[in-house]
Amino acid sequence: MSHFIVVGAGQAGQSIVTTLRGQGFDGKITLIGDEPVPPYQRPPLSKAYLLGDMDLDRLYLRPLSYYADETIDLRMGASVTALDPAAKTITVDGEHLSYDKLALATGSAPRVLPASIGGTLQGVYTMRTLADADAIEPEFKEGASVLIVGGGYIGLEAAAVAAKKGLKVTLVEMSDRILQRVASKETSDYFRALHQSHGVDLREGVGLETLVGDTRVNAAKLTDGTTLDVDFVIVGVGITPNTQLAELAGLVLDNGIMTDRHSCTSNPDIFAAGDCASFPHMGHQMRLESVGNAIDQGAVVAKNMLGQAVDYTPKPWFWSDQFDVKLQIAGLSTGHDQVVIRETETTRSHWYYKEGALIAIDAMNDPRGYMVAKRLIEAGKSADPALVADPATDLKALMR
Ligand code: FAD
Repeated sequence: MSHFIVVGAGQAGQSIVTTLRGQGFDGKITLIGDEPVPPYQRPPLSKAYLLGDMDLDRLYLRPLSYYADETIDLRMGASVTALDPAAKTITVDGEHLSYDKLALATGSAPRVLPASIGGTLQGVYTMRTLADADAIEPEFKEGASVLIVGGGYIGLEAAAVAAKKGLKVTLVEMSDRILQRVASKETSDYFRALHQSHGVDLREGVGLETLVGDTRVNAAKLTDGTTLDVDFVIVGVGITPNTQLAELAGLVLDNGIMTDRHSCTSNPDIFAAGDCASFPHMGHQMRLESVGNAIDQGAVVAKNMLGQAVDYTPKPWFWSDQFDVKLQIAGLSTGHDQVVIRETETTRSHWYYKEGALIAIDAMNDPRGYMVAKRLIEAGKSADPALVADPATDLKALMR
C-alpha cells in the first residue's frame, strides 16, 4: 500500500490530506504536526479568538473524529527532524518512516527581536500559534499599556482588539506608512484614520530602538528619542518560511522551498505548499502568506502526488477584520499605476489598475464590490474606471 506523508499539520497540510481522500486515495496517510493540537485556523487568533468572541472548538479545521473516520494517522506534538530523499524516509521522534510521496507544509515562523534589544524579556510576544494567543490573552486587561511593533495586518488587528478591550495602545511602524508592503497609500490612509478614531496612538516612520526591563519589559525607547512606559509588547514584523528541513535534505530554496508549476520541489517525490513554498509567477518565484493560497496550493499538491500534473495558478484573496470594518482583498496590487476609489454611504473600495487593466481590489465593508472585482480579475476582465468610481453604477452591470 502506498504511503503518503505530510509534514506540517496546518492549513495547507489539512487541505492536502482532505483532497487526497476526496480524490479517492485509499493508501496510507500520515499527517505530522509539531503543535500539540489538531490543524486549526490562524486568522481568528488576532481577531475573534483574541477578542473572546470565538470558542476553541470553532478554531479547529476538523473535529478529531475526522482523522479516525478518514484513516489519517494524525501525529500531534511530533517534530520531523530529518528527511532523506535518497532513502525516501523521514525521522520523527527518533522513528524512521518510509514514504512513497512526501509533502512539506511546514508554514512559517514569526520574526523575533534580538535579545540585544530586549526581544527575550518577559512580556514580549509574537502572534503565530494558539499557544501565543493563549499566552497574550491574560495581558489584555483594561487600562494596560501595550506597544505593538509593526503596522502590518497582524499588528493592526491586535491593536484593534486591544483598543476594543480598553487598553492604551501605541503602534510603531518603521516605514513611512502602515501596510506599506501590501497596500496602496489610500488603504493605509483609510486604516490610519480608523485606528486614530478609536484612540490608537499610531506612529509611522518611527522604529523601536530598544526594550527596557530587568526580567520583564517595562519601557520602550523609540527611534524618535521618546520613551514609553509599557506593560507588554506584541511584535508583528513579518515571518520567515520554515525551510530548515528542506535545506537539510538538499532541496533547492528560492524565496522559500522552490516548487515548479506542479508544486513539486527539486525532488520529484517531494511537494510543498503554503507559507513555506514559492512557485513560478511572472518570471520569478513568488510566495504568498494566506489561507487561500494554503488551501488552493494544498489541493494542487494532493492531485499531483496522485500523478495528475495539475498547474498551480494562484487566485489571491485575503481578509482582515479591524474594529467594525471587514477588509476583503482580491488579486495582487503590486505594480499598480492607478487607484480608483468607489465610495457610498456605507461602503468604500479601492480598485487597482495596471496599464488600464483591473488587477486587485481592497474592499472595506463592500462585499458586493469585492465579489464583482474578484470575478472580473479571475476571468482576466477589467472594468471602466469611470463607471467604477460612480457610486450610481450597478456593479453587476460591470460583469456583462
Ligand atoms: P501553518 O498554518 O503555519 O502550518 C504549518 C504547521 O507546520 C505549523 O503547525 C508548524 O508548527 C508545523 N511544522 C513546521 N515544521 C515542522 C516539522 N519539522 N515537523 C512537524 N511540524 C512542523 N491569512 C489570511 O488569508 N487571512 C487572514 O486574515 C489571516 N490572518 C492571520 C492572522 C494571524 C495571527 C496569523 C498568524 C496568520 C494569518 N493569516 C491570514 C495567514 C495564514 O494563517 C497562513 O498563511 C496559513 O496558516 C498558512 O498555512 P500553512 O499550512 O502554510 O502554515
